[in-house]
Amino acid sequence: MWRFDQGRMAFFQFDEIRKIAKYAVSNDLKTTTRKPLVDATGLPFYPADEKYPPWRNYSRVFKTALIVAEIDGVAKPTKLAELLSLDGTVTSDEYFHFLAQAFTDPAPSFQEWDPENEPRFPLLFTLKFALARAVLGEPVIPYKEIIAAYKSSLFNGDEDQYEYVEIAKKTWSLGAGEHRQASESIQVISQISYLSATSTELTVSLDNEDIQDLFESLSGVRGDRCSNKDAEIIRITDLFESSISALELDYPKTALDQTAEAGFTEGTRVERTHVTLERNAAVRGAFFAANPTSHCHFCKRDTASEYPWADRILDIHHVLPLCSGTRSTIGGTVLTDLVAVCPTCHRAIHRFYAKWLKDAARKDFVDAAEAREVYEAARETRKEA
Ligand SMILES: [Zn+2]
Ligand SMILES: [Zn+2]
Repeated sequence: MWRFDQGRMAFFQFDEIRKIAKYAVSNDLKTTTRKPLVDATGLPFYPADEKYPPWRNYSRVFKTALIVAEIDGVAKPTKLAELLSLDGTVTSDEYFHFLAQAFTDPAPSFQEWDPENEPRFPLLFTLKFALARAVLGEPVIPYKEIIAAYKSSLFNGDEDQYEYVEIAKKTWSLGAGEHRQASESIQVISQISYLSATSTELTVSLDNEDIQDLFESLSGVRGDRCSNKDAEIIRITDLFESSISALELDYPKTALDQTAEAGFTEGTRVERTHVTLERNAAVRGAFFAANPTSHCHFCKRDTASEYPWADRILDIHHVLPLCSGTRSTIGGTVLTDLVAVCPTCHRAIHRFYAKWLKDAARKDFVDAAEAREVYEAARETRKEA
């Protein structure tokens, strides 16, 4: 089974990865002490003992996340880390699709990596298998089946749509054995806007036509491998921009024509990522199952008493930076970054965001804390009718 950094999911959240990347571009992660890194990111970096530099226990996280490589004795930030450190430049969809296309079994961040072995791409396989199942009308896929199909099919990840549809038609069962690391890595990529996760299953929420276009554009990051692990990480991450420019991450059937309806005026990449997530049927269903409200979080009106013929007239609004997906932990998609708002308030919130970002000459919010502050500022600025 493919290796991943078990128990480190908190560090693989898109907004956290961006904070680590920001730190890495102006500090040497190899020699940094714990306190400044904890202060900059808010992440725990155990053990809480200043004697141990975080590099000792976390260098593999940083390398697996494609943020740094060790070159000439220092932690060199990758090109990808430099882009992640700039707000509004990389969306979580771009980052996690790239991670899926670049992550190999084993990855160069692991001891077992060998440049002589033909790479297999288990997360690319995961995406393609899940998309093929969704096209067949079964959008909820157990991790165990994905892992079993990867193990038994011997696919490398680059096979075409027809081949994936064939293996997706079969039922796969996993024998005894450890698969927690593989499951966690699948949960990491479930931060993609059209995916959602529970502790055992992945769900795809994307129109079939959008799936076809996306599927055709997915391929493993290849080229002549370097013989040195860290040099290989630099080589792969240098290919980030060319790899994602080949991807179809617009989801026109699912999101594009709805950006204006959601209150956006531009329809930029970060806005489309945000809209795709908010229109994700599985995320919406899970949110209202956990929070069966009919009240708008923004203006407090009760849409069920106002419109007694409907249960609720509410949109889902995602409060993290626009470029972020939903966070995912071992229990599945995190719903606490979402609020239910009436469609009028939702448009008004996005108009407030657009004005705030324009005034600040920025493309997106720096982090979750800032996004929440601006949401609260919009709520305070609102006047009762
Ligand atoms: Zn409202
Ligand atoms: Zn929104």
